[in-house]
Amino acid sequence: MVYYKTDEEIELIRASCLLVSKTLTLVASHLKPGVTGTFLDTKAEEFIRDHKAIPGFKGYGGFPATLCISVNEQVVHGIPNDKEFTDTDIVSVDCGVIMNEFYGDAAFTFALNGVNEETMELLVTTKDSLYKAIESAKVGNRIGDIGYSVQNHAEKLHKYGVVRELVGHGIGKNLHESPEVPNYGKRGRGPVIKTGLVIAIEPMVNLGVKEVRQADDGWTIITRDNKPSAHYEHTVAIKAEGTDILSDHVIVEEAVKNNPELKEISLKN
Ligand code: MG
Ligand code: MG
Repeated sequence: MVYYKTDEEIELIRASCLLVSKTLTLVASHLKPGVTGTFLDTKAEEFIRDHKAIPGFKGYGGFPATLCISVNEQVVHGIPNDKEFTDTDIVSVDCGVIMNEFYGDAAFTFALNGVNEETMELLVTTKDSLYKAIESAKVGNRIGDIGYSVQNHAEKLHKYGVVRELVGHGIGKNLHESPEVPNYGKRGRGPVIKTGLVIAIEPMVNLGVKEVRQADDGWTIITRDNKPSAHYEHTVAIKAEGTDILSDHVIVEEAVKNNPELKEISLKN
């Protein structure tokens, strides 16, 4: 069952998403070679609790941390650890919070300074595919149009692998609500997109094959061929007047720009 949100509920989700975005901004300001995922996770949890919110992922299905931190060939659901980042890493950070009973959810893949051009291209394309997907997420379209946009851009045009096993989702008082929002699909198929729908759109795109496997820790998803993977996520609300992006990557990108250890991921379109 799909829970359509009122304008008031959408504003509460926006507040949660904004805290998520600020947390990702904090991560962007601290990320550099030598820093660990554990350090970032501790900072993020303190920051979220200081804002009278609750980390949304910690304890969710037994997940042990505030952030999912997935490095290089790790796609999503990486558990923060004590391994130091190096200057050739890409680092996907996914964050969720609960505030005023509503979840917010967003993710961003960062690139340290030594990341090669081939991988930067993957990041740019994945980020582009998120915005193409958001353009398709409008009243009267169907969920399949969103997946088609990601797949067409990342897979058909750029020959990357779009992950099938993990999908975007409705979001509200639950982290994962109906409908599922796959990153692949056919135009004009799937549930109709209506006013009040709030969904997390989150392309996961691999440099190589689309297939993934799960690590022995029971969480981390890794590309089958161990090539890098990127992940960008926004939570959006569907409104009659247009689609409203509730999370904020602009402040995250500002922090990337101000951190000399990170490369900017500029949209191409
Ligand atoms: Mg997420
Ligand atoms: Mg999500």
